[in-house]
Formats: sequence, C-alpha cells, structure tokens
Amino acid sequence: MVHKANDPLLQSWVHVPENSDFPIQNIPFGIVSYNGNSVPATRVGDTVADLSVLADFGYFDDLGIDDLSPFYEPLLNSLVSLGKQQRMAIRERLSELFSSHCDLLQANKDAVKLALHPLNKVEVLLPVSVGDYTDFYSSIEHATNVGMMFRDPANALLPNWRHLPVGYHGRSSSIVVSGTEIKRPKGQTRPDDTLPPVFGPSRQLDFELEIAFITSGRSAIGTSIPVEEAEDHIFGLVLFNDLSARDIQKWEYVPLGPFLSKNFGSVISPWIVTLEALEPFRVEGPLQEPAVMPYLKAEGKRNFDIELEVYIQPLNAVPSLVCQSNFKYMYWNIAQQLAHQTVNGCNINPGDMYGSGTISGPTPDSYGSMLELAWKGTKPLKMSDGSERVFIHDHDRIIMKGFARNANYRIGFGECETVILPSIT
Ligand code: MN
Repeated sequence: MVHKANDPLLQSWVHVPENSDFPIQNIPFGIVSYNGNSVPATRVGDTVADLSVLADFGYFDDLGIDDLSPFYEPLLNSLVSLGKQQRMAIRERLSELFSSHCDLLQANKDAVKLALHPLNKVEVLLPVSVGDYTDFYSSIEHATNVGMMFRDPANALLPNWRHLPVGYHGRSSSIVVSGTEIKRPKGQTRPDDTLPPVFGPSRQLDFELEIAFITSGRSAIGTSIPVEEAEDHIFGLVLFNDLSARDIQKWEYVPLGPFLSKNFGSVISPWIVTLEALEPFRVEGPLQEPAVMPYLKAEGKRNFDIELEVYIQPLNAVPSLVCQSNFKYMYWNIAQQLAHQTVNGCNINPGDMYGSGTISGPTPDSYGSMLELAWKGTKPLKMSDGSERVFIHDHDRIIMKGFARNANYRIGFGECETVILPSIT
C-alpha cells in the first residue's frame, strides 16, 4: 500500500527544526489542553494543530466519516476506534493540509490562527483512557539476562518462552503521561533471606525500557484475532517506562507474578505514532526456533527498526546516556502478541495498551533496565556529575527517547520522562 503521507519529498509550510522527531511524514495523534479545553491534536515540528478546529472548518467532511464527534472528545478512544481506513484517511488529509504545495489550510488565516499553537503554549495530556493493560516479556536478551541472574545460567529461558509470548495483566489506573512525577513506592521487601521481611521505601527502583502498542479495534468476547489481521487492530506505538521496584518484586512475585512492584506508576510518551508512519522502517525479526504454532505464524517484516535511548539525569546535573537499544531486537512481534492475547477468546477494546517487555539488545550497553546494566548491583554506572548508580535515586530524571531514521527523515516519539520523588514517610 502506498502512503502518500510518507513521501520523503514532502515539506511543510510549518517550521520543522532540523532532526525533529516530528517532520510532516510523522503526523502523530495526541491530546492537548489549552484555554480550559482538552482536544485531539497532531504535531508538526514544535507546532500542535487542534483537530477540533480543523473539523469546525470542514477539513474532515469528505473523508467518509459520518460522525465527527471523535474530533471533539478529550481522549482519543473514539478517534482510534474509527479503525485503520479512516485513520489513514485522516493522516493523509493532515499531511495534505500541512504540505507546502497545498493552500487549503495555509491560505486560510482564520483557521491557522485558531488551530495552530506553539507546543510550549499547550499542555500535552494522556492520549487515551487505557482500559486494559498487558505487559509482555518478549525480548530474548532481557529474559535470558534475568534468567541468568536469578535462576540457572545454563537454562536461563523457561521451557515455555520460545513457544508463546509470556505476559501478565497489569494495572491501567496508574499509567501516566510523560512529565508526571512519581513517588518512590513503599512496600514489603526481604533484603535478608534469613530474617523476616521489612517495610519501607523501595531501595531498588528501576526503569524498564519498553514500547507499547495501542489497539484501535473492538473484538467480541469468545472470538480471536488472527495473527495476519492483528496489525489492523493496532493504532500505533508509544514509548513506555514500566517502572519496577526490584526488591518488592523479588519478595512478592511468587507464585502469581508482579503486583505492587509495578503498579505505582508507568509512564508513556504522549504522541501516538501510527503504524503507517513507521511503515518505511519495517525489518525482519529474529529467527524463531523452534517454529511457532500456526496461530502465531506471521509472515513478512513484522519488526520495526526504532532506535531507543535512556538517560538518567541526577538533580542539578546533565543527563547521562545509560542505554542504547532497538525495538528490532524483539523476539515476539506485536502481531503475535495480539494474536496470542485473543487466542483464548479474550476481547479487546479501543485504547487498550500492550507493553513489549523490557527491550534489551545483545550488548551490555543495550540492556533496557538498571538491573541488567549494573548487573544486579555489581557494575555501577557513572553519571555526568561523578556519582554512581546501580538503581534509581530520588530526584533522578529518567528520560527515554525513540526514533526511526533513514536517509530522508526521522520519525520519532519525542520523550518519555519522569522524575522520581522521595517516598512520603
Ligand atoms: Mn515490563
């Protein structure tokens, strides 16, 4: 399928700074707030466009969308539920409106004045109300590292791992947008296995570098989404920091898995980048051996070459790059994850979120968590101010970045960042 909006020759009449994550070929979707209203928006460079105003001016009237109310809602759930064909039509229309060669919006001074705003004059909010949230565990490097540290280096992967995308149901109420500060969680830990557990602030707070997909479709309970159709039910991707308290996790997770160690705050980037925008960056995934069952068999390029970075910024210091990874390393891809999620008849809704699991690469500088980067506390990381980290300190800012690039342009997610505040004692 040809996406005209991906044409590398397109230029916008809206200024796009060099190396911006948001050239005209991106056209992400988000929610912004200004003048007391929260509205759907897109972004070109450092300018946001209010889609409700563009709808007022009739720019979406001829796209075959009967009900334009999704362009006026304070969350994107209705807009994402329009589905793939309409999403593509909206994105293509926005691309036209912002193209240098098109006068439709450019020449309409009233519309430009009302619809376009500098990014720094609006507040960027959580894009969807996340109904259900699943977290997978789909990086073979991450699962192997954790298995080596906590179980048996010779049998790091559990027997099920190469047969199905392991996951668990997480908590959606504490998913927050980039820029939200998170308090260090308190809870039970057992630092000494010969003594009773203790209560207090987590001493092993970690990040998990992930990408999450957001579903656009609704499926009925009792039905399954075939792997070949799965991507049609996915609106787009966001960066995702699945903050994890390793000491709480270690004590609580037996036998039902993570609970309070992972639900005190999880951070997403605010702009949903569509699968269409990421189309030029598809790559083959790793060879899956043994061969997967038929319901998980996905042909073609199902992975995405998205470079990922994590920085830690201590208070009053400049950020230090601690991890460089890539989404292309994922063993299980998003189509397989959604097919597996629904194979038993579990239903999905627009705005559900599915985390990839920590995205670790093959080299020690590409590991996607402090647990792995500092290898269970044995290899401290040096910060720009000379201090060291094996886990996250109070007042540290954790910044995640993600972008795909080729010779023509770069499609990015902006930042997913949070500051860790001290526990309230
Ligand atoms: Mn996770």
